[in-house]
Amino acid sequence: MKSEQDCEISLSIVVPCYNEEGILEELLERVQRVAGEVAGGGFELILVDDGSKDRTWEIVESMGARHDWVKGLRLSRNFGHQCALTAGLEIARGECVFIIDADLQDPPELLKPMFDRLQEGFDVVYGQRESREGESWFKLATADAFYRLMEKLSDTRIPRDAGDFRLIRRCVLEAYLSMPERHRFVRGMIAWAGFRQVAFPYARAARKTGETNYPLSKMLRLAVDAITGFSIVPLRFCGILGLLSIFVSFCLLVYVGLSYFVFGSTRGWASIAAIVTFFGSVQLISLSLIGEYIGRSFMELKRRPIYFVSESVNSDSNSTKLGL
Ligand code: UDP
Ligand code: MG
Repeated sequence: MKSEQDCEISLSIVVPCYNEEGILEELLERVQRVAGEVAGGGFELILVDDGSKDRTWEIVESMGARHDWVKGLRLSRNFGHQCALTAGLEIARGECVFIIDADLQDPPELLKPMFDRLQEGFDVVYGQRESREGESWFKLATADAFYRLMEKLSDTRIPRDAGDFRLIRRCVLEAYLSMPERHRFVRGMIAWAGFRQVAFPYARAARKTGETNYPLSKMLRLAVDAITGFSIVPLRFCGILGLLSIFVSFCLLVYVGLSYFVFGSTRGWASIAAIVTFFGSVQLISLSLIGEYIGRSFMELKRRPIYFVSESVNSDSNSTKLGL
């Protein structure tokens, strides 16, 4: 049930925050200005502290004390960007939900033109990065390779160069929240949900303070979540690998036969060792791929909450389904 105050909220802005103490005041100021223009007084800013180690939560609390439209959730530990975002989405009450990062790489001022696009009859307006300042060639190259791979592997068209920065309608939010899986890949799940989606090209700024919370290891984890969550093609890859190794072993057999009968020589232990290692590796690769899917099925089967809330400000976090 929506409370009387919730009914007046037309816009929710959801921001996951991890060690973002240096930027939150500027974020609040810029969001307040632009959200006021778009939604009058009917908006809320939801800040989710994803187990930060700095003063992020103290700042969220003080902002909540100053403004009743600032709502805060503190997760019990660092659950990761996608889970923190989901926690915020679960308490969002607006008719439209604007998802942005705390670091101001995605300018909040784009809310106005994105909102205009939504009014043209779309349900999702997702930001598509035309240029990205201050990001290493390595990050750009790996991101590009990832999106290319996803296009090949999955039937769901996950837009290229789009992060989670987007404006969505309530119907899309409800669809997203109805998906119970533990491994969340928000942009992919929203793409999968369908509805009328449109890209909004923009220039992505560099991070204002602090540094990226997405080191290579987290990026890889997100990529594996995305691939295993949206495609079973890698499992078929084991079959292809098997066929390929049958072909290689056939060629080897011909070679061994020829060298024995034609050249009269017997090959030594080195070639046998090479063949054994080759097939051993093919089997191990296949096993690890299958294991990845079984492991994920196991994690999903446990049906654990995807986050825990330890504290909240101006919000009743009991209404959540995916967390506790
Ligand atoms: N973030 C989070 N939990 C994490 C890592 C990141 O809530 O474990 C938040 C972070 O505060 C930011 C957003 O997710 O608002 C995107 O993170 P970041 O800017 O580090 O990623 P990048 O823009 O470098 O991909
Ligand atoms: Mg960033």
